[in-house]
Amino acid sequence: MKVYNSLSRREEPFAPERGGEVRMYTCGPTVYNFAHIGNFRAYVFEDVLRRTLEFNGWKVKQVQNLTDVDDKTIRGANAAGVPLQEYTKPYKEAFFADLKTLNVEPAEVYPAATDHIPEMIELVRRLVDAGVAYRSDDGSVYFSVVKFPGYGKLAHIDFENQRTGARCAADEYDKENVGDFALWKAWEESDGPVGWDSPWGRGRPGWHIECSAMSMKYLGETFDLHTGGIDNLFPHHENEIAQAEAATGKPFVRTWMHCAHLRVNGEKMSKSAGNFFTLRDLLEKGWTGREIRYVLAGAHYRQGLNFAFSALEDARKSLARVDTCVAALEARAAGAAPGAAPEFAASALEAFSAAVNDDLNTPRAYAALFNLVRSANAAMETLRPQDAAAALAAFARMDSVLGFVQSGKSAAGGGEAVPPGVAALLEERARARAEKNWAESDRLRDAIAAAGWAVKDSKTGQAVSKIRPQG
Ligand code: AMP
Ligand code: ZN
Repeated sequence: MKVYNSLSRREEPFAPERGGEVRMYTCGPTVYNFAHIGNFRAYVFEDVLRRTLEFNGWKVKQVQNLTDVDDKTIRGANAAGVPLQEYTKPYKEAFFADLKTLNVEPAEVYPAATDHIPEMIELVRRLVDAGVAYRSDDGSVYFSVVKFPGYGKLAHIDFENQRTGARCAADEYDKENVGDFALWKAWEESDGPVGWDSPWGRGRPGWHIECSAMSMKYLGETFDLHTGGIDNLFPHHENEIAQAEAATGKPFVRTWMHCAHLRVNGEKMSKSAGNFFTLRDLLEKGWTGREIRYVLAGAHYRQGLNFAFSALEDARKSLARVDTCVAALEARAAGAAPGAAPEFAASALEAFSAAVNDDLNTPRAYAALFNLVRSANAAMETLRPQDAAAALAAFARMDSVLGFVQSGKSAAGGGEAVPPGVAALLEERARARAEKNWAESDRLRDAIAAAGWAVKDSKTGQAVSKIRPQG
């Protein structure tokens, strides 16, 4: 397997350091709000990575943190007038529900920052003892970037001329404002009831120390992979490296991987820009987790991806093609055991494997999937049951990475996947509407309803949802 390492800025062969197990850390959500689908682009990329590692036969130990104390969560809790834990709880629950909807495999550990304050205090203490951190007059503790010669190695910036001894108390800042950053923040009026006692007085951890402390606790002082969205690279990941390596004297992470942003009209999707959709927004419009996953995983992770509803429409059509083919293969296989893979299935699977192992080239992996659909359809009438079963096994193998192929079975669901029959009726109805044939459109709406699905029309096209039994 080859991946692009943000640290070396090169594609490199990847294998875990220790035997068969990959130790991987993923920056998780700040639970002050519902995650938007930009965040989920990062989590789906990390899931495809995880599943590819498993596809290759490695075991994965993945740790994903929950940032439940930082500038934003404290601001939210105090504005709402509720304790921090009470404020973050529904967003933690929503996050796990959303991961399920997107068929993201669960990580092995989900440490919450508020459960690891002693570990963070201990790490800050080590840094103070090592002479790379200092207490300021107000009782905060700062990391002195001039004391760590490797500072800037991930962001590839030469900070020599910028080392002014300035300090930055905020969790998030940009490269122009590089300076000593907060490891521990002294309690302030605006923190309200949030705070913990420490050797430097009452306060709370900075955001960056959370990830260094929790990753090393669960994965060791050096581990294989660390991932996140590209906006995490600086200052968050740069600071994580400084904190960990200055404390341990060992390399922190072997390979760093970052995904590009999900954008809307060319701009990063973000809470602050207000240009976001949560996963829930899209489910309410009738799209399924399966369709959303298809779109998010479909672009190469290092390429920007512009969000558009037309992509969801394409996803629906493409998935209907997969479903139709799989259903036909199932009928032909009639429960037979898979025989040797027919040539078309073996070569599609080989192309698929080469694609995902080439720095997670999902566009090429999708092409291999649809090659399999095309050749299976072309050969359908001549396939023996054991051939059909072998082709199904190839789909299943691809699905172990993609997580949306076998709709019914692996239930990349959220909303339940639209069955092929209904998808075909929807396509027919879209055509009727394009031709302004309203009578036909209404007839098809009734046929879709008879199959148990309700269809709604909007500017972006048709949206369906399962009709729930009344009462
Ligand atoms: P946050 O909750 O802001 O800490 O972000 C959680 C994760 O989502 C991080 O890995 C971010 O880098 C990532 N992220 C945030 N916005 C986007 C976006 N528009 N596209 C892709 N990833 C994003
Ligand atoms: Zn982090």
